[in-house]
Amino acid sequence: MDLTYDARELEFRDELRTWLADNPAGELPAEEDSIYAWRRDFQRRLAAGGWAAVHWPREYGGRGATLTESAIFFEELARAGAPLPANALGLLLAGPTIMTWGTQEQKDRFLSPIVTADEIWCQGFSEPEAGSDFAALKTRAVKRGEEWIVTGQKVWTSGAQYSKWCMLVARTDTDAPKHKGLSYFLMDMEQEAVQVRPLRQITGESEFNELFIEEARIPDANLLGGAGNGWKVALTTLMNERAGLAFFLQVRLRQLLDRVLAEAAERDLLEDAAIAERLGELHLKAEVLRLTAYRGLTAIEKYGQPGPEGSLTKWMWSETNQQLTQFAADLFGPDALRAGNPWSYELLRARGNTIEGGTTEILKNIVAERVLGLPKAR
Ligand SMILES: Cc1cc2nc3c(=O)[nH]c(=O)nc-3n(C[C@H](O)[C@H](O)[C@H](O)COP(=O)(O)OP(=O)(O)OC[C@H]3O[C@@H](n4cnc5c(N)ncnc54)[C@H](O)[C@@H]3O)c2cc1C
Repeated sequence: MDLTYDARELEFRDELRTWLADNPAGELPAEEDSIYAWRRDFQRRLAAGGWAAVHWPREYGGRGATLTESAIFFEELARAGAPLPANALGLLLAGPTIMTWGTQEQKDRFLSPIVTADEIWCQGFSEPEAGSDFAALKTRAVKRGEEWIVTGQKVWTSGAQYSKWCMLVARTDTDAPKHKGLSYFLMDMEQEAVQVRPLRQITGESEFNELFIEEARIPDANLLGGAGNGWKVALTTLMNERAGLAFFLQVRLRQLLDRVLAEAAERDLLEDAAIAERLGELHLKAEVLRLTAYRGLTAIEKYGQPGPEGSLTKWMWSETNQQLTQFAADLFGPDALRAGNPWSYELLRARGNTIEGGTTEILKNIVAERVLGLPKAR
């Protein structure tokens, strides 16, 4: 693909750069409790400036940005050191899924508060016994009159403690084959029947939660895409999961690598051939990642949907990020492992990278089957 931006794209980038320079996100708060509020306030400012949902159509409060402009948005956000908006799951997953499958009433009701961060969303897919094979989920929804009664358990639900709404996939037909008996609901989290218990992670923070659902009620009007269509609707959500993020993540990786380089230079470590070689390898991987992200964009532009490149970039990013943070810890010694040191946080948080948003093994299966045409694993 042509990697140079045209005049319109340059104008978009410059306008955004100016806005980000005039509206800095500020420093990451030290207290975990304040981080969410910081990200929500930043999203509100983005929304007021018309920048919160650049890839959404204008009629829903977006900017109607092209895919390339959307990639520029995520690159610039990361470059400015700004956080992902607090409602990232609403903007990247729930919104586009509702736009694809929702009725006009659902679009009118749900889309606008996503952009303004007035209503935060979480993704209730994974369960204790259904992660990679999420069609094996057991949470049940039974229709009673004009509503659905839901009982079950979800786990690893990021941001549930801040969320008003949950993209919930539940089993509505136990007789149908497992992929066909699912339905996709927009569940109100603010009810007694939904209990959220934060899970403490290795980093000490609680990004994700367990959800205990005991006869929660969901009006039929909040069923998305029709009963029994949950698998197809969920695929729309999953296809959107990796699209824009690749650009944000590749810039964040580049920034971390630049920090390692700068700190290594300060400590006079660059003359060591073994260290220089490792840094060279990581530089190469960061560049390959950037170019693969753009290749993914070309595939979407050509064929209208994400190709297997989405799996490649997620796989490459997560493994490279783990290698990079491990290398930083090796290089900077015990200092980098002390609690409160940013490198210790990066090292520990990177462990989840090869699990969240699809494990590396699952991504390798996708590449094996859909890129290399190898026989199905099972
Ligand atoms: C930081 C973080 C945030 C998350 N946020 C959310 C969220 O907001 N909402 C949500 O619904 N989920 C979320 N998840 C859950 C995530 O999607 C699951 O953890 C992931 O899909 C894997 O499922 P699992 O944990 O049940 O592992 P399993 O699916 O049980 O996998 C266990 C191991 O077996 C391997 N494996 C499984 N199947 C195969 C196969 N067919 N071939 C080869 N190897 C296989 C896996 O790669 C893995 O190594 C989050 C996870 C993390 C780490």
